[in-house]
Amino acid sequence: MKRLISTISLIISVVLTTTAAGKDYTKYIDTRIGTDSNYGLSHGNTYPATGMPFAQHLWTPQTGDRYDGWKYSWPHEEIRGFEQSHQCSPWVQDYAVFILMPEVGKVVTGLKERGAKFSHENETARPNYYKVTFDNGITTEMAPTDRCDFMRFSFPKKGDAILLLDGYNELSEVHIDPDKKEITGWVNNIRFIQNKETFRCHFVIRLDQPFQEYGVWTNENGAIFPDKKDGEGKGFGAYIKFKPGTKVNARVTSSYISLDQARLALDRELGQYRNLEEVAKAGAEVWNALLGRVDVEGASDEEIRTFYSCLFRSNLFSRKFYEIGPDGEPYYYSPYDAQVHKGYMYTDNGFWDTFRSQFPLTNILHPEMQGRYMNALLDAQEQCGWLPQWSAPGETGGMVGNHAISLLADAWAKGIRSFDPERALKAYAHEAMNKGPWGGANGRGGWQEYWTLGYVAHKGGNGATAMTLEYAYDDFCAWKLATSVGNEFYAKIFGNTMYNYRNVFDPETGFMRGRDTEGKWTEPFDPEEWGGAYVEGDAWHYTWSVFQDVQGLINLFGGDKAFTDKLDAVFTTEPAMKPGTYRNIIHEMTEMGLANMGQYAHGNQPIQHMPYMYCYAGQPWKTQYWTRQIMSRLYNSGPQGYPGDEDQGGMSSWYVLSALGIYAVTPGTDQYVLGSPVFRSATISLDGGKKFRIIAEGNSPDNVYIQNATLNGKPLDANYITYQDIMEGGELHLIMGPEPAYGRGVSKSAAPYSLSKP
Ligand code: CA
Repeated sequence: MKRLISTISLIISVVLTTTAAGKDYTKYIDTRIGTDSNYGLSHGNTYPATGMPFAQHLWTPQTGDRYDGWKYSWPHEEIRGFEQSHQCSPWVQDYAVFILMPEVGKVVTGLKERGAKFSHENETARPNYYKVTFDNGITTEMAPTDRCDFMRFSFPKKGDAILLLDGYNELSEVHIDPDKKEITGWVNNIRFIQNKETFRCHFVIRLDQPFQEYGVWTNENGAIFPDKKDGEGKGFGAYIKFKPGTKVNARVTSSYISLDQARLALDRELGQYRNLEEVAKAGAEVWNALLGRVDVEGASDEEIRTFYSCLFRSNLFSRKFYEIGPDGEPYYYSPYDAQVHKGYMYTDNGFWDTFRSQFPLTNILHPEMQGRYMNALLDAQEQCGWLPQWSAPGETGGMVGNHAISLLADAWAKGIRSFDPERALKAYAHEAMNKGPWGGANGRGGWQEYWTLGYVAHKGGNGATAMTLEYAYDDFCAWKLATSVGNEFYAKIFGNTMYNYRNVFDPETGFMRGRDTEGKWTEPFDPEEWGGAYVEGDAWHYTWSVFQDVQGLINLFGGDKAFTDKLDAVFTTEPAMKPGTYRNIIHEMTEMGLANMGQYAHGNQPIQHMPYMYCYAGQPWKTQYWTRQIMSRLYNSGPQGYPGDEDQGGMSSWYVLSALGIYAVTPGTDQYVLGSPVFRSATISLDGGKKFRIIAEGNSPDNVYIQNATLNGKPLDANYITYQDIMEGGELHLIMGPEPAYGRGVSKSAAPYSLSKP
C-alpha cells in the first residue's frame, strides 16, 4: 500500500507540479485526533471525519447516542453505525444524518442493543479511508469522494448478513427496490434552518448483491415491518438480508436538491471506479496534492504527524454546500430561503472561532475558493437578511461579534477582488446597526448603547465588554475596507468606533472591564471571574482583544514595560478560575487548568493571539519562546491532541500557521507576525506554481530563538512578513539559537501593524 501510494503521489506531482515528489502525507494523519473528549472536557471534540477537503458530506463511525454531539468518543467500546455526517462542532450538533449498520444473525434495531464491540487496534482512520473489524468478524470500510461514499461490508461465513438503515431522528421516508438493489428516501433531521418542514436530504444507497429478505422499521418504537418496501414517519429505516459470508458494496450519497440530483452525483463521482480501492486511491491523490502544498522537514516524527493532522482539519470546514447540476454548473439549496440557486455556497463554520486563524491560512492556500466564498457570504445575506456568523448550515447566531466583515476585509486586503466591496460594506452596516432574530452574533446585541455610549453597558452575564471589543475590531475591518475602496461615508462612521476599545480599559487595574450606563466600572471586580462582561473567558483573556491597535493598547498601559509585564503575568499568575455568571465550571475552564500556563487559556479563542503581542513591544523572543511551548506542550497527534475544542479548523490552523513561524494577529491587514517555526524547512506551493520557503537553520527544541533573519537575501528586522511576500514566492531564512537575540526586532519600526503610534 505504501509503495502504491508513493507511486501515485509521484505521478500527481509530475502532473500537477504542486506536491513534493513521492510523499504520502495521508499516512501522517489519524482522523481520530482529538476524539478523547466528552461534555465536561474537550481534547478537540472531534470525530473521525472521513472525507475530502471541504466536502459536502463527511462519513464517520458512531459510538454515541442519538442527538448526542459526542458522536464518537475514544473510550467507547462499541460502534452503533456508520453515517453521513455534517457536524462541525458538538455544540451545534449534526444534521442530515442517516446511518448504515452491518449485523450478523438477526435484525437488531435498537441503537444500544445493536452496538458491536471493537478495539482501536482494528481500526484504520485516514482522511480517504476508514476501516474497522468488529469482534463479531464484520469488516466495514469507507472511501469518500466530495459528495459520495463507497462502503464495503464484509460479513463472516456464518449467520445471515444484514445491513440496517437507520433514518435517524425525526421524519424520514424509505423505499426499497430489490430489482435495482437500491434503497432511496429522505431524512429531515436538522436544527438550524429557516424552512425545516420542507427540508429534504434525499439519499440513495446502491447495493451490488441480491436481497434475500427485506423490510422497513421505525426507531420511534422499534416496530419492524417485514416484506414492506416503503415506510414514512418518525425515524423510518430499512433492513436488507444477504447470504452469509457476502461482501456487499454500497455506493451512497445524498442531495438537498432532489433524488435525481443524488443519482447524478453517484454516477458522476463514483461511476468511474470499479471498487473501493480505486476510490481510496483517488482520495489519497486529492489529499496528497493538497497536503503536499505545505511540505515540512526537519522535526520529530510526532511533530510532523501533528502538523499534517492539523493541516487536514484546517481543510475540512467550511463545507461546500453546493452540488454540480446536469449542466456541470454549481447549484445549491439555500439553507436561508429554501430555494435552489445557481452558484456557490459554503456553510458550517462559526467565524468567531475561525476568523483569527483558519481564514488567514485559507487565503494563502485557496485564494480562488476564498473569492467564491466571499460572494456566497453576500448572497447568503440577501437570502437571509443577515450575514452568516455561525452557520450550521443556516444561521445559529452563536457567540458574539460580526466577524463576517473580518473575512471580507481580509480577503480584500490580500488582493481577492471577486466580490463587490460596496455590497459588503452595506451588508455590514446593516449588521452593525440592528439586532437580528438569532443569538448574540446575529446583528448586534446592545447596538444602540454601542453607538451612543461608545460601549455596551454591562448587565449580568451579557458579555458586554467582549461585545464592545469585538465590535470595535469589526468596525476596524469595515473602516479598512471602506478606506481601501474610497468609500468615505463608511470610513468616517467606522473610523471613529474602531477606537471604542479605549472605553472599556480601566487604567487602575490594567484590565478591560464592564461598566454601567453611567460609566461606572462594575463592582466587585475579580479578573479571575468568568462570564459577566466576558464571553467564555475572564478579564485576563479579553484585555488583549485589540487586534487592530496593539500599540494603542500599549499606550493605554503606559508603555512597553507595563504592557510586557502584564503579558508575562498572564503566564505566571495562578490558573485560578471562578465560574462567575456561568455558575458552574465549563469545559474551557477545566482546559485552562490542565494547560498549566497560568491564565493563558489556549483552549479557547479570545487569548490565542496574545503570545504574538510581544513582537509589538520590543520582546519578540518571548513570542518565540511561548509559541514553541504552546505547540510542544498542548498539541499532539493523538486522541488527546488538542487543548480544547478544535472548532472547525480554528485550533488546527493556529498550529499550522504557528508551526510555519507566522500568525495573523490582525486579519484585515496583509501582515503575518513572526513566531518560531517548528521545522528546519517548510515549502509552501502556491496557486500558479510559485514557492515560498521558510528555512530555520539550526532549529531544534532548544534552539527556538531567532538570531538573524533575511527575506530573499535582504536583512529583515521586522517582526512580520506580508501576504505578498508569501504569494510572490521567495525565502524567509532564519538562523536559530538557544538564547534570545536581544538586539533583533526590538525597535518600533520592527513592530507589526497598529492604528496608533507610540
Ligand atoms: Ca472555542
